[in-house]
Amino acid sequence: MTPTPLHLDDSGLVREALARASILFTDVDGTLVAPGGVLLADASGAPSLATAEAVVELNRAGLSAVITTGRNRPQCGEITRLLGWRAFIAELGCVVQFDRSQEPEYLMGDWPEDALQPGETPFQAMIRAGALQALTREFPGRIEEHTPWHTDRVATHVLRGNVDRNQAQAALDRLDLPIDIVDNGIVNPPRHTLVGVSEIHAYHLVPRGSHKTTAITRVLERRGLTREDAVSIGDSATDVEMADVTALCVLVGNALDDERVRAAAAARDNVAVTQRQRGEGWAEFVWAWLSARRD
Ligand SMILES: [Mg+2]
Repeated sequence: MTPTPLHLDDSGLVREALARASILFTDVDGTLVAPGGVLLADASGAPSLATAEAVVELNRAGLSAVITTGRNRPQCGEITRLLGWRAFIAELGCVVQFDRSQEPEYLMGDWPEDALQPGETPFQAMIRAGALQALTREFPGRIEEHTPWHTDRVATHVLRGNVDRNQAQAALDRLDLPIDIVDNGIVNPPRHTLVGVSEIHAYHLVPRGSHKTTAITRVLERRGLTREDAVSIGDSATDVEMADVTALCVLVGNALDDERVRAAAAARDNVAVTQRQRGEGWAEFVWAWLSARRD
């Protein structure tokens, strides 16, 4: 059995990291918000101010929070504005906005300059390369566009379903463009047309070599900060990689439902987990952060 990561209160390492950190990189879905993307609700979806109160206290303390998510740029812009934050990382690290009033920077991983045709976005290039057809042919009924989240994207596709990731990657590797498929964790869409699929995952198609972690490092450099100044929080196996570029990666309790998350966490010594789930876990983390900084 995979060992469980440290609890937030368990270790001096956790407190030390929290005492020093001044910037947070936070996932959104499954982490900050309740099912359906609701902020003003507890993990079960019942109305609650717990997460919003933690956002207010974080803002009062003058700490920075940077949304770091697979969601698209328009969504991140609005969430950031509503919460009173400035910077965000959208489309799993491919779109970095240092301030929401500025133009974004695009990070295309290892793609060569000539990967795109004139005027083409990476999103369009993946369609041209046949990425979506390759996956629906390989897994009939088991993968589809994650509507309505699939729109207004420039760099990545977001799909949902349940497929063997290695087999999916092999199908993509037969195409002319280097495209990776990333499992972004368990989702609960209210509607879908998948057949015979119980646990549904969100999958992103990304230019090979692009990661949330590269974007986090860009934001830190831009602000003159280092890894030791930063903490991160999320709920998916991809989010655990944020531990590699921040002092500490915190997982909300529901993250441990996914065995891939447990394995990724066990491979690192700077991952901790909250007792509560989703936004309540996020709030638990913020209170621990504020308390560590006061001591
Ligand atoms: Mg998530």
